[in-house]
This record gives sequence, C-alpha cells and structure tokens, in this order.
Amino acid sequence: MDELQNALNNKSLTISTFPEKGRCLFTTRDFSPGEVIISESPYVSVPNKNKESPESKCEWCFSSTNLKKCSACHVVWYCSSICQKSDWKLHCVECQALKKVDKERLKSITPSIRLMVRLCIRRKLENQKNLDYGGCGAEQLRMHFSAFMFLACNAHTICDSELRPLGTGLYPVISIINHSCLPNSVLVFEGRLAVVRAMQHIPKGTEVLISYIEIAGSTITRQKALKEQYFFTCTCSRCIKLKVIDARITNVMDFSFVTLSKWGDEKGRGILKSSDKTEASVAYKMIEELQMKLYHPFSVNLMRTRETLLKILMELQDWKEALSYCRLTIPIYESCWETEAAVKSLTKALDILESLMEQRHHSCWNF
Ligand SMILES: [Zn+2]
Ligand SMILES: [Zn+2]
Ligand SMILES: [Zn+2]
Repeated sequence: MDELQNALNNKSLTISTFPEKGRCLFTTRDFSPGEVIISESPYVSVPNKNKESPESKCEWCFSSTNLKKCSACHVVWYCSSICQKSDWKLHCVECQALKKVDKERLKSITPSIRLMVRLCIRRKLENQKNLDYGGCGAEQLRMHFSAFMFLACNAHTICDSELRPLGTGLYPVISIINHSCLPNSVLVFEGRLAVVRAMQHIPKGTEVLISYIEIAGSTITRQKALKEQYFFTCTCSRCIKLKVIDARITNVMDFSFVTLSKWGDEKGRGILKSSDKTEASVAYKMIEELQMKLYHPFSVNLMRTRETLLKILMELQDWKEALSYCRLTIPIYESCWETEAAVKSLTKALDILESLMEQRHHSCWNF
C-alpha cells in the first residue's frame, strides 16, 4: 500500500479513505483539460467472446487479424510472436492447465473464469509463499472467493476507439477511482492501456471521478445500470437533482411507447426486424418524427433512433442521408461527454462517409 501511495505521489495523486465511500483518488496539483491524470496496463486481461463479439482475438492486444493458435493448448490466439512473448509468463502456467481440459469442458470456460484463473496465476507468480494451490483448505477457498468478488466489482471492459468492447481487464489503481454521473475525467483505452484524462480544469485537492456507465441515459436508466453492474446507488448531484425530472420524462416516454405500439400493431414488430431495409428505414423515420415531437433535441432516445437509422442507411448505401444522420448525432455526444474519444470516433465516421460520397460522386452515381 505504501508502495502504491509513493507511486501515486510521483504522479501528483493521493489516496484518501472515507468511512462512507471507501478509497478515493485525489489530485495534489492542478490538471488541465485533456491532460493524462494516470495511465495503467492491466494486471491481467482476457479478450471477450460472446454473441456480440464472437470472433477470436489476440490474447495480448485484442486484434482479430493474422491470428495463430497457441500450438500447445489450441485455446488462445496471438496476432504476432511479440504479443505471444509478452503474454508468455502468464500463459505458460495457464497453458499447462488448459492442455488437460477436455474439449467439451473447454466450452464452459468463460472469459470471466479465465480472468479469475489469470488473476490467481499472477498472484501466485508474485507471491509464491502465500498461495499454495496444492491444497484446498479454507484459506485457499477464501482467497479464491475474495478474488472472485474483487473481479465482479473491479473488472473494466476494454473498448476500441469506436467504443466496441474487446476484452476485460483488471486495473488496480484505476479501480480506486469512484463514479459520478457528472465526472471531471474520462477513462479511455489505447489498446490495452487504460488512460484517465481530465475533461475539465481539475484543481489541486479534488477527487478524480469517472463515469462507469454511459452518462447520456436518464437518471433511472443510469441508477439501474449502476445497481445491477456495480451494486451501489449513486448519490451524485446529477442523480439527486434530476430524479424528479427524469421520472416525468419516463412517464412521457411510456406514453410515447403506447402511441408507438398502437401504430406498430398495424405494421408489426416484423418491420423493424425486417430484412427489407427500405421498409425498416421508413418505419424508423416515423419513430424519429414522433420522438422529435416528444423529446428534447438532445434526447438520448432520439439519438438511439438516429443511430439505428444511420446503420440502416449505411446498409442501404444511402451515403448522403447517412451523412446527415451522422451530423445530427455529433452535437448530442458533444453535449453529453465532451470527450475527445467519443467525438473523434464520430468525426472519423463522418470522414469515411464523406470520402465514400466523394468516390460515388466521381463515379457519377446519383444519390
Ligand atoms: Zn496481438
Ligand atoms: Zn497455450
Ligand atoms: Zn449519479
């Protein structure tokens, strides 16, 4: 702990402990907007593998190209010998265990189980004396259980620049940073490196706060997500102030969904899932029109509809309209996050769309 405090002192940060909040990270000097407050590599990490992201990924950098399987266990993948070497210290222990598991049982080893195994291996490697895996006494069980609880609350989802989840990692220092729905900092990932940047001027002696969830949601949505994923009720100023207003918004939303579902009776949900994208785009434009009457122009619900429309229009290769929807979503992201990463990825999407439009223009196609 002293070691950690010393390391943080060098970075102009310090840990304070409060009975009601636990550990908190504070600044010991001013930070400017955009400045890196802290960056950290994961203590352990694993790539995601689920329905949303079924493709195999490199164990070290999460890339999904040029992959080769580990020739010993045939379970993990690497994109290069550099990544394999970087991961070898941990994987050589894990590899021995994975080799012994039969094919059927391998299927039930989820990324969360693998993350826990990796955590135990790393702890064992660093502290051989404290952990003896030969036995299964009460102390070992307690250690496993505490490791599991630690993982459930402290694992971070590692995302790419377009905020798509790639993997899960443990970042011991960054996990000290508390949540706020009005954060002064933002957590972004540069590959496997977690980077916390100041979003505004942060004076000396201020608590560093990030948002664990998407902050564009309503107070009810945010609180539900925090309760389900992080087991706490947020009491930040935004949650306290906006609870009443959000309850009213939710009522209006319910009303709008009744209206929408009446309209939907006729057309049916089928259209929205329809393989006919033109029909789907017409249906979503009607929803957008309804939402524009009900919601604030920066409403996250309206933004979601427009994002879906954007996807459909891109599938329809209607670049001109897709571009106009892309433009409509940018100010909402800017107002909610004011972070470089979110705006950067949208600007990137705009650039791609614009260059596609230009290409089509040159080949004399009409929109
Ligand atoms: Zn790699
Ligand atoms: Zn292996
Ligand atoms: Zn809050």
